[in-house]
Amino acid sequence: MWCAAWALTGVTTAWAQEAIAASAIPNWAGCLTRLQGDAQRSGINQPTWNQLMAKLQPDPSVLDKLDNQPEFKTPIWDYMAALVDDERIQQGQERLAQHRDTLKRVEHTYGVPAHTVVAVWGVESNYGQSFGKYPLVQALATLSCAGHRQAFFQKELLATLRIAQAGDVKPEALVGSWAGAFGHTQFMPTTYERLAVDFDGDGHRDLTASIPDALASTAHFLQKAGWKPGLAWGAEITWPNPQLASEGRKTKHLVQVWQARGVKLADGRPLSALFPPDTPLGLLAPKGPAGEVGPLFVVSRNFDAVFAYNAAESYGLAIAHLADRLNGASPLKAPWPTDDPGLSRADRKALQRALLERGHDIGEIDGMLGEKSRAAIRSEQTRLGHPINGRAGQRLLQALSKAE
Ligand code: CA
Repeated sequence: MWCAAWALTGVTTAWAQEAIAASAIPNWAGCLTRLQGDAQRSGINQPTWNQLMAKLQPDPSVLDKLDNQPEFKTPIWDYMAALVDDERIQQGQERLAQHRDTLKRVEHTYGVPAHTVVAVWGVESNYGQSFGKYPLVQALATLSCAGHRQAFFQKELLATLRIAQAGDVKPEALVGSWAGAFGHTQFMPTTYERLAVDFDGDGHRDLTASIPDALASTAHFLQKAGWKPGLAWGAEITWPNPQLASEGRKTKHLVQVWQARGVKLADGRPLSALFPPDTPLGLLAPKGPAGEVGPLFVVSRNFDAVFAYNAAESYGLAIAHLADRLNGASPLKAPWPTDDPGLSRADRKALQRALLERGHDIGEIDGMLGEKSRAAIRSEQTRLGHPINGRAGQRLLQALSKAE
């Protein structure tokens, strides 16, 4: 963002960028010196340091990412609508067919079914189509020298340097999220060191260039996180009287306890049709803004394994439901507790086109609602008399799609 500001004022060239970068990170040179000592002690040799770190400039934009809270909390139905949409289901089914033999071997080795592994791939990088754009070494070095999680990011930086030094991933392929997750299934560098596997047998653990390595490493992660082969992650349920819906994912009861409370699978079958009687199950009950109940779920330890991949229940549910859909299951039966459902990525693109047609500068039509799209949404909400919150749902899309 500061590049754009300099471009506007006509100041260009590298010295300007360096001046800004250096002023944003006090004592950058001193920090690099300190990191070099730590790097040496952790096995980084001089050529690796010279190649990747010696002339590095910081990228202060990652500090904005670290500090900026999202402007509003994304409701779970918006999250699910974009992550489990028709496009992702269709592409996932294509990937399942394309990599069937690899996925069979992965399941045989780690006990994690193909549709679950592919769902993680689909959510993490849109099946390898979106790895993130931040050079990892630069982003992690910046976060190691400034901000409030320097010790955490320094471990990730040193792991990244070791991965590059081992020759497993080409340095130019070490690109990912601002916080350091990279590759097809967005491993953090320290997770990579612990759990990545070479599954195509070329002698390298490469989660950027090798799909077999990435899929197997993901299954390996889930296995280590406690995945039990053959067990369902959970299921949507009906509960005529959800008086104990304040219980959560971690409070586990055996199948018979839930059945005694009147809980059934959403398709009407008893829980025992899906879960062995000795299965401990917790409850997931995402609520509406006024505490309204939407779809309800029981979840097993396999949901907890997915939760370990990324500690958010909405994330776990997106993976779990996408996996079910890839396996041929129907959409959720109960509606979300909202009268303004969320948008798929195709819907988001339609919304962006409508905003563009109305003269808003929203940048590229990419289905991602960034700051410019949110500002345009707020402006249209003001004009239409809708609640002004920057959130895009079906109601706004329909209002903007109508000819006026
Ligand atoms: Ca390999």
